[in-house]
Amino acid sequence: MPKAAVVHEFKAPLRIEERPIPTPKEGQVLVHVEASGLCHTDIHAAHGDWPVKPTLPLVPGHEGVGRIEAIGPGVHGELQEGDRVAMPWLGYACGECRYCNDGRETLCERQLDTGYFMDGAYAEYANAFARHVVKVPDGVVSLEAAPLTCAGVTTYKAVKVSGARPSMLAAVFGVGGLGHMAVQYAEIAGCTVVAVDIHDDKLALAKELGATYTVNAATQDPVEEIKKLGGADVAIATAVSPRAFEQAFASMARGGTLVFVGLPADNFVKLPIFETVLNGITIKGSIVGTHHDLEEVFSLHELGRTRVLYETRTLDQVNEAFREVEDGTAGTARLVFQF
Ligand code: NAD
Ligand code: ZN
Ligand code: ZN
Repeated sequence: MPKAAVVHEFKAPLRIEERPIPTPKEGQVLVHVEASGLCHTDIHAAHGDWPVKPTLPLVPGHEGVGRIEAIGPGVHGELQEGDRVAMPWLGYACGECRYCNDGRETLCERQLDTGYFMDGAYAEYANAFARHVVKVPDGVVSLEAAPLTCAGVTTYKAVKVSGARPSMLAAVFGVGGLGHMAVQYAEIAGCTVVAVDIHDDKLALAKELGATYTVNAATQDPVEEIKKLGGADVAIATAVSPRAFEQAFASMARGGTLVFVGLPADNFVKLPIFETVLNGITIKGSIVGTHHDLEEVFSLHELGRTRVLYETRTLDQVNEAFREVEDGTAGTARLVFQF
């Protein structure tokens, strides 16, 4: 029987279990998973870190890529058995509300999130709603498509909404799965990039991916360092620490835009009103990206304009892999479970 990694209790280790192959329900397809990225969100889900808790037992995973093995009832689109697809965080949106009909389906109030409110891709087989899977182009291998499915699309969108333009200084706080893609999209937008992390090996990756400046927040003051460069015109906060968000705020140039992306367990930041107003700072929240954003992310990758830095693990190593990501010893930007 096929395997899945299952959360039964918050903060307890995940259990590897044998589960029957699911039957796709109305509007769904059955995907035989080939690769499944480990997003820090999966750790938050397994810990019950956020104000809204997932439903247990839960199979996490929203960076799944695999081939369609069966098509459920009521699927009349162009998807065929054998197609390779990605299963993103937005597992279902209603398609009818003001958000869905305005290119903002990631804000749909009736959404179901993959690996949170429905079982996800830490499994050999997973059901997904046909309307929300995204075809992976032939030129993008599954192990690279997986991290693009959340880390890629999320930071692509964050850079888009930041208004990043050539000549701007973009600060990326946190160079993990998300941040290593954010550095590249900010570069593509024409920005000069300063990357901030607390691990030197992550900063070395950022350099390799095109960051002009790096700051180790464990040993240097990022605010001072970024101010010396004139301040950040845009900042993308992906670090799993409210302190990094406060530092990102304090490092902004006047008129700058700070995009909140990371979702630390500690949910609050303390920010000054006076400086926000007088300096004309914009703060935006950005949640993943749309179906179309992910198509754009795959196109850029197929054109050779982005790189995905990853290492593979097996699903049996899931608890060890969580620890590696939490303590920063993974030795790469993203871990991907290979089936
Ligand atoms: P990750 O663990 O791969 O990366 C986080 C990085 O932040 C690490 O490199 C870590 O060393 C660094 N970091 C930690 N503390 C720091 C500090 N004080 N200053 C600077 N850097 C610091 O995690 P990830 O998968 O990239 O996810 C990051 C966050 O984004 C998580 O909270 C996740 O839930 C969230 N997320 C949000 C969205 C969204 O749509 N908004 C989507 C996916 C993930
Ligand atoms: Zn994610
Ligand atoms: Zn909707």
